[in-house]
Amino acid sequence: MKFITIDKKDWAKGIDKSRRTYQLFGPVKDENGCKIKELDTGLVPDMDYHESVMSAKSVLFPQSETLLTASLNESVEDHHIMKRAENAYTPRAVLGIRPYDAKAILLVKMNFDTKDYRDPYWCDAYEATTLVGLGITRPGPFDFSTSVGCGPFCEDGLDILMADLDDHYLAKVLTPKGEAYAVACGFDAAADDKESQALFDILRKEAEKNIASSVETDKLKEKVLLDLHEAPFWDEVAFSCINCGTCTYVCPTCWCFDIQDETKQKESSRFRNWDTCMSPLFTRHATGHNPRGVKVQRVRQRFMHKLKYFLDKYDQGIMCVGCGRCVKSCPVNIDIREVCQTMNTYEKKD
Ligand code: SF4
Ligand code: SF4
Repeated sequence: MKFITIDKKDWAKGIDKSRRTYQLFGPVKDENGCKIKELDTGLVPDMDYHESVMSAKSVLFPQSETLLTASLNESVEDHHIMKRAENAYTPRAVLGIRPYDAKAILLVKMNFDTKDYRDPYWCDAYEATTLVGLGITRPGPFDFSTSVGCGPFCEDGLDILMADLDDHYLAKVLTPKGEAYAVACGFDAAADDKESQALFDILRKEAEKNIASSVETDKLKEKVLLDLHEAPFWDEVAFSCINCGTCTYVCPTCWCFDIQDETKQKESSRFRNWDTCMSPLFTRHATGHNPRGVKVQRVRQRFMHKLKYFLDKYDQGIMCVGCGRCVKSCPVNIDIREVCQTMNTYEKKD
């Protein structure tokens, strides 16, 4: 670990230099808000952004991704044999990612990179990716990250964490990947480690003071799973939900997908697309049976997965980093903080 100073006058030139080896992604504003997008040549990340509508999850888990391909042309030697698609996993860097979105990638990793199964697509993309974070100095009103093991200057999952200090960035280089990225940019002005850490601590404490929102999760672990599953409050939670799926698409920790096959003339592909547990089609079997055919079952699934199943399975906290996007985006104001409170304090009546 070391600190470096980056003069803002050198920032654009430095990241441009890194394009020789890295594909770059970062926050870009358009008429619909700020998104984390690929930065084409000449495009500089908008490092003054407050929050992005979508997280950086699509850098590792694209909305649509080809997994396998096969040729149906019988004159080709290995026709009808599905093979892994030739996706490129060249080095890439996400600039200005918020700490909660980097922490979310670690939670998603628990699902895609287990001791029994490794999703090669997600894992190869993860290994190719360097996360250059930007600390949050002005948290938004929906941010409750500090109460779920994260926070505005959380370092979990990041390779570099930067603090914006008006005319320069102070960067804490956390991993060898971060070190390699700094070298590729030519950023090498060392800063005093002790003073820099003290400054980071001040900034972190100031930012954390501005987070007014929180959730309590301390009793979730001890709750009996079936008691929560059968609790009477789910009808009320689900009542206004229109199953639009927005909460899951904007969530940096949601990973549901659907697999489809498509054939065009003699070429066949199998690809996966983001899906949502809020959609009735997501769980409909080929027989027509649907284990979550009723809205309340789907709403319950979303919250039980995030706040109970994940916690019970991994014992690493809940599957939420407190970014607040789902709260802000839900058209009918369903609020995970309220649902979490209801679950955390629920007592079954005999
Ligand atoms: S965003 Fe709100 S209305 Fe839409 S699926 Fe999620 S909880 Fe339901
Ligand atoms: S559940 Fe909501 S607050 Fe939690 S990480 Fe997902 S979008 Fe953010």
